[in-house]
Amino acid sequence: MPALDYPPPLQRLIAQIKSLPGLGPRSAERLVLWLMQDGGRVEPLVDALRDVTTRVHACDQCGFFIEHDTDCALCHSPKRQQKIICVVEQAADVLRLERSGAFSGLYHVLGGKLSPLDNVTPQDLRIDSLIDRVRQLQAEEVILAVGSDVEGEATASYLNDMLRPEGIAVSRLAQGMPAGGALDHVDELTLYQALHGRRRV
Ligand SMILES: [Zn+2]
Repeated sequence: MPALDYPPPLQRLIAQIKSLPGLGPRSAERLVLWLMQDGGRVEPLVDALRDVTTRVHACDQCGFFIEHDTDCALCHSPKRQQKIICVVEQAADVLRLERSGAFSGLYHVLGGKLSPLDNVTPQDLRIDSLIDRVRQLQAEEVILAVGSDVEGEATASYLNDMLRPEGIAVSRLAQGMPAGGALDHVDELTLYQALHGRRRV
């Protein structure tokens, strides 16, 4: 007698949910069972999924999400500086930087970071379109606002090599002391970077 399992459609849904980042088999199973407990939980989710696939796409220029038939609020804003491009890994980073209110130039979403272990190569990222934009806009500066982990560093170094022939300023976000942090709460690497990234007061 074959081992008992969920009906195949349920198994397929669990497998789909399991493939999402950050979800293991147990949490995928729990989530699907929760959805199935009440018929009213599935339809709104299906509607939302359908909406994002039919009504939302990434902007050709910056890579941030826009609704169909609308202009990108970032690329088409006359208030934004057109000669400075901030490069980020993910669309969510655009929102974080915007909320900081510290930047008023253009953005460029890479769509990830270089990671040989995960088979992410330069071809998988929006690097060619970055170079095209730098030329088209005759940009004066590119800020590499990528992470300071190993993959982020590798990505920044690769982008710097690619951008150097364009003869523009390439900068990275400063690293160091967290706002409101005391020295004894900061790890040695952060302290090292903070010391190197010091500025005159
Ligand atoms: Zn855009």
